[in-house]
Amino acid sequence: MIFDLHSHTHFSDGSLSPAALVARAKAQGVNVLAITDHDTIAGLEFAQKAALDEGITLISGIEFSGGWGKGGVHIVGLGLDVNSVALSAAIKFQEDSRNSRAQAIAERLGKAGFSDALLGAQALAGEGSIGRPHFAQYLVAIGAVKNINAAFKKYLGAGKSADVKYQWPTMSQIIEWVHQAGGVAVLAHPAKYALTRTKMCAMISDFAQAGGDALEIVSGYQEQSLTNDLIRIATKHQLHGSCGSDFHYPDQPWQELGRFSPMPNSIPPVWELLGYNLPLSDAQLQTIQ
Ligand code: AMP
Ligand code: MN
Ligand code: MN
Ligand code: MN
Repeated sequence: MIFDLHSHTHFSDGSLSPAALVARAKAQGVNVLAITDHDTIAGLEFAQKAALDEGITLISGIEFSGGWGKGGVHIVGLGLDVNSVALSAAIKFQEDSRNSRAQAIAERLGKAGFSDALLGAQALAGEGSIGRPHFAQYLVAIGAVKNINAAFKKYLGAGKSADVKYQWPTMSQIIEWVHQAGGVAVLAHPAKYALTRTKMCAMISDFAQAGGDALEIVSGYQEQSLTNDLIRIATKHQLHGSCGSDFHYPDQPWQELGRFSPMPNSIPPVWELLGYNLPLSDAQLQTIQ
């Protein structure tokens, strides 16, 4: 059984439609998929239709942007009631934040000589939630930089000219939103915030204190030593474990759907907490490693 509980569609900064993502997950041998677009669930309805056709189990999901210390933190919500009023209000709040941050980013880019950045990024985001990757794609499209990575390095990344310090909600606030919607809260990719190990441990501790449920133990390709370390930290804080590819684009083999080392069975898996009725017997769940 392969659970991939972190992936993106073109409703945020991924490149595939929900239906194409579901089909690709199926082809990659994924049995249970969560779509976790940044601050939106707009793709889930389309994905659910495709999942029924493909015979793959879909778990509702979202990846909320939050703030911790001087930087950002991502919290994945899984198994949410998509009709939750609290969830709709949270998404509206984040959408407004993303729109005003996009304006601030565009102003900075305007000062750097890119006067049409807002319209360009908005066109690329389409009906999806707008983010820095859309500005990066725009800068690539007009030939200002070679690739998306270079756009982050030169303009959009931490400390660069178009890096807007944004006041995102706290971890407590996001965990509350997720719980109000009946979901479980997962601290995403703890090793990808460019923190020292001490700071990473403090972030995980704060997350657990705030009522968080699980830690993403495996995020795409990673070293076994990191997996082992994260299991130790999660166990200390009585957090469950989650795993996912964080898939965005087909041409990134280190973030391919279903392609990550299995989550060791030395930690209780997050799917034990999901209110979602997985079509699995307890015996089948026991064999997952
Ligand atoms: P945002 O939520 O708008 O701040 O954008 C964050 C997203 O940008 C992340 O989810 C990544 O997909 C992407 N990202 C962040 N840093 C980089 C980078 N250095 N190179 C490429 N993509 C990045
Ligand atoms: Mn992303
Ligand atoms: Mn993330
Ligand atoms: Mn992600």
